[in-house]
Amino acid sequence: MEKAKVLIIGSGPAGFTAAIYASRANLQPVLYEGIEPGGQLTTTTEVENFPGYPEGVDGNQLMADLRKQAARFGADIRAGIATRVDLSQRPFRVVVDGSTEIEAESLIVATGASAKYLGLPSETKFRGQGVSACATCDGFFYRRKDVAVVGGGDTACEEATYLASLCRKVYLIVRKPFLRASKAMQERVFATENIEVLFEHNTAEVLGDDAAGVTGARLRKSDGTEREIAISGFFLAIGHHPNTELFAGQLELDEEGYIRVEPGTSRTSVEGVFAAGDVKDPRYRQAITAAGSGCMAALDCERFLLH
Ligand code: NDP
Repeated sequence: MEKAKVLIIGSGPAGFTAAIYASRANLQPVLYEGIEPGGQLTTTTEVENFPGYPEGVDGNQLMADLRKQAARFGADIRAGIATRVDLSQRPFRVVVDGSTEIEAESLIVATGASAKYLGLPSETKFRGQGVSACATCDGFFYRRKDVAVVGGGDTACEEATYLASLCRKVYLIVRKPFLRASKAMQERVFATENIEVLFEHNTAEVLGDDAAGVTGARLRKSDGTEREIAISGFFLAIGHHPNTELFAGQLELDEEGYIRVEPGTSRTSVEGVFAAGDVKDPRYRQAITAAGSGCMAALDCERFLLH
């Protein structure tokens, strides 16, 4: 059976940064790219807040550059999805694509998280063309325009207030007759003049055309009445789910399914297994924080292998 000193699962900023550090430390990491090679950034267009790119960078380009940088130092980057893991003893056993088995002395989990979407065909059609699940990433493109945010939690309220500072008007579309967000966050929303909260509304359809992208949304109120709003941006803030199904019952997870790490480190509940990026971070979820934690995981891993 094939053996690896360091096995990295996931190819977002966390996985590739871990691979850069681990390969430079001569640990010959093997990295499996997973379901979405390049991770969430490949679904955005321009990335303007990753340090080092004063003119911004296309999300796909940034990930291609990170991949190239990891490969340059000898990281063994492979297409493949980890389908089963056994962390009960070392070396750990990981099955890829249901058949290839590999033994790993250490494991870096960087499988990320996925934003939840409503599941409307029109929403899928305009993804990256006005439909976004990250106001911090994409809000800037909607300056002085009208946009909508879906959700009633802290993220939705935070994103609505952030967008309100850039946009002309923000509709907050909430399915219940109340917000679930903390009191302070709610107060901030209600105190912001250019946010209009539409309680008991659901989105029936995202409207748009191929040339302009999103132009509006058709909303349905709980009493069955419908209305259309004119918007250029449609932001989802209905939560994320960490991609940790593979590790359930083997690594300690929090109530939401995120991997628990020892504070200030990347160490998980299993010695020799490290977590980096959104898979352990429900709070910041930024490319740069993921990259930083990928670096931490590689350094923690290096120390673990040395001792
Ligand atoms: P939450 O799970 O708290 O909220 C999700 C929201 O989306 C809810 O209002 C929910 O509605 C709504 N929703 C879910 N599915 C749908 C759907 N299909 N259609 C319409 N609406 C839907 O997620 P958040 O991302 O807001 O927060 C996650 C965690 O992170 C929370 O614990 C939060 O407190 C924390 N957080 C803290 C922040 C801070 O302290 N600054 C900032 C951001 C997040 P419903 O209420 O009806 O279920």
